[in-house]
Amino acid sequence: MAEKIALVGIGKIARDQHIPAIHGAKEWELAAVVSRSTALDGVDTYPTIEALLAARPDISTLSLAMPPRPRFDVAVKALNAGRHVMLEKPPAHSLAACLQLQRLATEKGVGLFASWHSRFAWCVPAARAWLEDKTLVSLRIAWNEDVRRWHPGQHWIFEPGGMGVFDPGINAVSIMTEILPDPVHVKEATLLFPKNRQAPIAATVAFHHGGGADVRADFDWRQEGPQQWTIDVETTDGHLCLTDGGSKMYVDGTLVDDGLNEEYPRLYRRLSELVTAGRSDMDLSPLVHVVDAFALGGRVLVEPFHF
Ligand code: NAP
Repeated sequence: MAEKIALVGIGKIARDQHIPAIHGAKEWELAAVVSRSTALDGVDTYPTIEALLAARPDISTLSLAMPPRPRFDVAVKALNAGRHVMLEKPPAHSLAACLQLQRLATEKGVGLFASWHSRFAWCVPAARAWLEDKTLVSLRIAWNEDVRRWHPGQHWIFEPGGMGVFDPGINAVSIMTEILPDPVHVKEATLLFPKNRQAPIAATVAFHHGGGADVRADFDWRQEGPQQWTIDVETTDGHLCLTDGGSKMYVDGTLVDDGLNEEYPRLYRRLSELVTAGRSDMDLSPLVHVVDAFALGGRVLVEPFHF
């Protein structure tokens, strides 16, 4: 029988991905939503998390598709009420907040899933397997997209804790940390802040790699025209390229894998496995690198940004 789930926060990603993925999953029944601003036809809607938790003890699992800062308090309330919780990425606005959620989930004996949707892109497992026995020479992330197209009017994303261009950039970092066999850490970074904003619109990050490989990332939200979500990896035994956010994989220029965009259906299958097994999955490594980039990054002011 399908498990009941509630979705909290009905914004862009909830409508684009979460709702269709839950409706398409045999493991889940969308039993309720929590929304301050909208309602869904045929689904019970509650205005606050407190109202949902009080009214619906039958709902075991909550998926929180809201920005990271307001999401933390909601996650605490849900975990305290003994519900399993899936967190959109990034799992929280700070590392300490993530650790607090982890401790609480353990204490309450419920599952907590820090979802990194880009890791569920089609070619990520194949890229990981291909790289497993290779010697890295270089890795380049190019994650360049148009913020007006993908985050229309989302002012929270430029506020402190919104993470700016690292909001999509952390998706690339989540793939990198999944496919690279070796650990890396941020060596230096440059963050470009619009004069009227509190979060960067572009950034470059250089990573230290134990084997001396040149590992770098470029994130830019000012990209017009074709959008780019690419990771290029040079090894002593050939070249791997992931494009389209990980849905296409090339080896030495030849397309070797190309799959459907099934990130969110796969994410919800993983959530079901975790809930059934009573386990958590809370890998914080992508957030560690982004927090380090903010800590170590030099700040450059650029022209003001307006949606
Ligand atoms: P969004 O369109 O701004 O929607 C966020 C929703 O969260 C709002 O519509 C609102 O829903 C709810 N919310 C509750 N408290 C809020 C507050 N204080 N400020 C703003 N919203 C609040 O954002 P989104 O793009 O869906 O992003 C949500 C999360 O998903 C973020 O962590 C983001 O990184 C992640 N994500 C986004 C994308 C994307 O392409 N946009 C892709 C993957 C992941 P109600 O009005 O229903 O309460």
